[in-house]
Amino acid sequence: MNTPIISFEFFPPKTEAMEEKLWDSVKQLAPFNPDFVSVTYGAGGSTRERTHRTVKRILDETTLRPVAHLTCVDASKDQVDEVLREYWASGVKSIVALRGDPPTGVGTKFVANADGYQNATEVVRAAKKIADFDISVSFYPEKHPESPNLMHDIDVLKAKIDEGASRAISQFFCEPDKYLRFRDLAVKNGINIPLLPGIMPVGSVKGYMRMAAGCNTDVPQWFIDAFEGLDDNPEVRDLVAASVASDLCTKLQAEGVNHFHFYTLNKAGLASATCRRLGVKLGVKP
Ligand code: FAD
Repeated sequence: MNTPIISFEFFPPKTEAMEEKLWDSVKQLAPFNPDFVSVTYGAGGSTRERTHRTVKRILDETTLRPVAHLTCVDASKDQVDEVLREYWASGVKSIVALRGDPPTGVGTKFVANADGYQNATEVVRAAKKIADFDISVSFYPEKHPESPNLMHDIDVLKAKIDEGASRAISQFFCEPDKYLRFRDLAVKNGINIPLLPGIMPVGSVKGYMRMAAGCNTDVPQWFIDAFEGLDDNPEVRDLVAASVASDLCTKLQAEGVNHFHFYTLNKAGLASATCRRLGVKLGVKP
């Protein structure tokens, strides 16, 4: 079996203590030679600044390839275009182009800025007009919460590819079948870009369940039972989390998946344990 390709997602830190934790995680995970490391983007000026700073620091102080997430929430087209131009000029040539969640909360109606892009498709188009960015986009194996059905999601993904996206990263999910069903449907409908499964090991049971509820991720009963009460016992929680994430990845690997994207939540341990279990070798470029 080929050594898998991996990539990691981080979020920009809010405090000095979080900043230290992030860089410690980056240092621990860098020897796995990720294909890229991505940094998420939030609504609001200060969050955006933090993303830019983190991406720039990765570019300046490491040999890793940073990928900057970018959304069009609460921003005019000019503002988004300006961020894109700044990234390109400073050497950041890869982005994850997104619409973003409504600032009023997941599940509420998204209202685009009066002068802004409406969705990720328009952000991809804008980025490609500005420069030849390497562009990743999202997909949702269990359907985006606002989408009427899975076929609509396939059509949206195709539109994003037509505008220039060359890779898609999935929302997190608990069971391999969810991802595999989407992958099969995508391939059947002519989609042939890499579809990376987004793997989120359980760093906090409460946090995981809250996120799953917000983004349409089905959490099966066996999963609920396995983690029940474990926020009070972090040592056991981490052992179960590493084992569950590794199981998910090895099942996907057996179905031909060879690139895994980890939502690290800025904690190196669980992603690192899962990479080791997958056979990713330290210090070896895939
Ligand atoms: P889109 O793909 O634009 O879809 C949103 C809506 O627009 C859908 O209802 C779709 O039907 C419609 N639409 C899109 N294109 C078309 C089209 N061509 N024709 C008709 N309708 C269309 N959120 C953040 O705030 N910051 C992040 O950094 C971030 N990173 C993420 C990374 C990944 C891998 C994933 C899976 C999600 C991430 N999110 C992030 C969450 C994401 O912003 C939300 O899920 C959001 O609700 C949808 O964004 P999107 O880019 O997937 O939307």
